[in-house]
Amino acid sequence: MQKSIKAKHFILQFAIISNLMFFRVDSLFSETHYIRTDDEFTVVKAEIIPSEITVNDGESAGPFKIKIEPNTITAQAYQWDFEAPAGAGNDPFCEFNQKNAESTTIKRAKWFALPDSACGCSSTSTYKIKCEITINGEKINATYSKLNVQVPEPTARTDMPKFLLGWPETGYDLNGDWKVIGLGTISRPPIPDTTFFIGRNSYFYQKVSEHEKQHRRDWENGFDGHILFSETEFYNMISNLTAPTPQELSDKIREQYILYVDEENIEVASTKSCFEYRAYQVSDSIPPLYLNQNCGRFSCP
Ligand SMILES: [Zn+2]
Repeated sequence: MQKSIKAKHFILQFAIISNLMFFRVDSLFSETHYIRTDDEFTVVKAEIIPSEITVNDGESAGPFKIKIEPNTITAQAYQWDFEAPAGAGNDPFCEFNQKNAESTTIKRAKWFALPDSACGCSSTSTYKIKCEITINGEKINATYSKLNVQVPEPTARTDMPKFLLGWPETGYDLNGDWKVIGLGTISRPPIPDTTFFIGRNSYFYQKVSEHEKQHRRDWENGFDGHILFSETEFYNMISNLTAPTPQELSDKIREQYILYVDEENIEVASTKSCFEYRAYQVSDSIPPLYLNQNCGRFSCP
């Protein structure tokens, strides 16, 4: 601390004595620069605002703008750039919509992997957004901003309908017993649309989308020959029911339905690992090969 104050005094004196020289003190005072304007030196502060922006992977980010103090000073040129930590994976990149204007935005913010590990990387990555500006022929660096690019967790979800719709057809026979005589309106509900917590522009969209599609296929077509929450399976449980009154028959049908839903939910829980294993088998090879990977979490006997 003491040392830097001394250095500052020295530089100010030096600047006054040699009035005809340009003078830069970047290394000592990160935000303050001495720029010659006409015959005198002016303390110039340049910064990028805002100081921090956080977006999801694939979203646009910005605008980032240059703010110069005093505001009577204008820059003649701008050169925007970015910096990612050394060793980051997933090819860090910021595509600026303008690289040489007073303000800029980043078109499709790209998450990078730190550390460069498929299973051990952080879901948030932070770039330095930098700008070199030119004032009166002198180049100075504005104080940098941060751009945080994150991948939300979870990335998407598909809610499988764990119920059946409708009611069986009932009637009574010559003995006066009420019974189930047909499937009636019992049906499997359609699977609702997948909810994505990442945007369509995310670099992970295709990977996540193919993963969710495999879940939908397994639910639709059955997992290893067994369709969960199947109308025919349930119908087999109630097709022989009889009762002396319609009310009692309804009660018996409801009772069986509750049993069936319980059974199927137990089966869903026990096959969850297989569902995930199969979905990751589809999505693990689709880039980016980070974050949304099985990483040995799910297996299937
Ligand atoms: Zn999954």
